[in-house]
Amino acid sequence: MISISTQMEQILQPVQLREDEYLEENKLVYCSKCGTPRQKRLEVLGKIYEPRCRCACQQADYEQQELERKHREFLDLVSRNRSVGLPDPELRRHTFENDLGYNREQMKKAKQFVANWEAFRSKAMGLLFWGYVGTGKSYIAGCIANALLDKGVPVMMTNFARLLNKLTDMYSGDRNAYIDSFNAYPLLIIDDLGIERNSEFAREQVFHIIDSRYRSQLPMIVTTNLTLKELKDPEDLARARIYDRVLERCVPILVNDQNVRKLIAAQNISMAQKLLGGEVTA
Ligand SMILES: [Zn+2]
Repeated sequence: MISISTQMEQILQPVQLREDEYLEENKLVYCSKCGTPRQKRLEVLGKIYEPRCRCACQQADYEQQELERKHREFLDLVSRNRSVGLPDPELRRHTFENDLGYNREQMKKAKQFVANWEAFRSKAMGLLFWGYVGTGKSYIAGCIANALLDKGVPVMMTNFARLLNKLTDMYSGDRNAYIDSFNAYPLLIIDDLGIERNSEFAREQVFHIIDSRYRSQLPMIVTTNLTLKELKDPEDLARARIYDRVLERCVPILVNDQNVRKLIAAQNISMAQKLLGGEVTA
């Protein structure tokens, strides 16, 4: 320890006291609001330094600002992830909060998937929403995408038609790199499995997309208008090797209670007719 007299000799500059400060008996600056020091005394290589420091209330303010800054950064990241991961802006409105209550059971399962995301991720397990056109499969998958994006998980949601268009325009050498680039996303959601029925090129590319995910041990969510029977018992080997991988890693969930799209369209039409003062009959 160094005696006070030595310290006093080594203090070079007198401190300027601010309005909310006072000098304690130990000759250090204190905060008059919280009564804790705003200056500390250090000895470095035999010299005494008395740098400024944060008092308790300044420290609390600082921590609060840091928390707010980190939260803003997190929200920025979520918003960037959302605009990249959901290239179709319509998908950004597919949220559990906006759900109109169709497909209650399936929605419950979708929420469970989000709640247990880490477990599904570690087992590379995903979901397969299957059922007729317009039943709301994409909507449910979109809800999962948005909920995970809100948690800071990067998700990519696209559809096979869009992927195939992209791949068609590419040199074959670039295709694998493009397909593998999706492995940067912990979750890949792809709408409309079944498009591969149309051509051999499509079957080959869809296989590569599914297989890349499969080999990388990463989960995917797939939607399809195909029936579970068609998936389990396909017409040819090319499709069997695609569907086998999907069924091995994706829990099938049937979505076919009602044609939600037609139901909503009918409600909109009747609402519009009311606005016009009733139905017009010929
Ligand atoms: Zn203070």
